[in-house]
Amino acid sequence: MEIKKLDFDSIYFDLYQLDSGIYAAISAEKLPSSNAGFFDLGNYLVIFDTIMDPYATEDLIKASKQFTNKEPSFVINSHYHMDHLFGNRKFPIEIPIISSAETLSTYHKNLDDTLKRFRGIATTELKRIQEEIKKETEPNKILEMKNDINTYNEILDPNFKLRPPDFIINDSFIIQGTENKVQINYIGDAHTPGDIVAYFEKVKICFMGDLLFEETDPNWATTTDPAPVPTDAQKLHDVLIAYSEMDIETYVPGHGKLCKKKILQENAKFYAKYFIK
Ligand SMILES: [Zn+2]
Repeated sequence: MEIKKLDFDSIYFDLYQLDSGIYAAISAEKLPSSNAGFFDLGNYLVIFDTIMDPYATEDLIKASKQFTNKEPSFVINSHYHMDHLFGNRKFPIEIPIISSAETLSTYHKNLDDTLKRFRGIATTELKRIQEEIKKETEPNKILEMKNDINTYNEILDPNFKLRPPDFIINDSFIIQGTENKVQINYIGDAHTPGDIVAYFEKVKICFMGDLLFEETDPNWATTTDPAPVPTDAQKLHDVLIAYSEMDIETYVPGHGKLCKKKILQENAKFYAKYFIK
């Protein structure tokens, strides 16, 4: 099937149908906004990654319901980074959130620091946005800024809570639906401890999480700002080569536009040059 851009109104992402029942939400901005997806397996609706911005996550949920006529059955977090997990709290508690054991433990290890960092950012960002919104005239920009103000206020609330994954796996597994199946492949340490990807063998599509970026930046190797420094650069490199050699046509990166094999090879070269010692 041809990849189809769908008519869905979100200021946060463009929605694509990659094949029957397989959808990708591709962020309108490149960084830090992340991509996500949802899979209609017939009897199950699976959400792959949630988005940093709660309003973007709400759009993702809305799109998933609108295009499948189903309620989400499972959520999957590809790894522990907040831009892929922050939106978990938008899902009802009855819906299991699946991740690897390492994703859960790394999430807990980093939670206090992460919240402290977000709260630090929230205070300065609130000031900045409240000044900028006065000058903004574009309605979508104003909406985005208003949403951001709500989000930062929420984060500053002492009762603010994130939702960690709660359905924990230690290996690859398959969700076999009545119409389609998805292979959740456990990678282990690569971009982070315990990465997982979602693979549709028959239709040659793989959701790579942050194992794949459409664009990489050599500054990641030297900056003191938070940057996607891999947990195991050699393993990440090897996984990228291995997945580029598999019979896959479309790769959904964690950030940036849909990719072909060439980008995996470029990413592998990038990690070899800047991160593998
Ligand atoms: Zn990441």
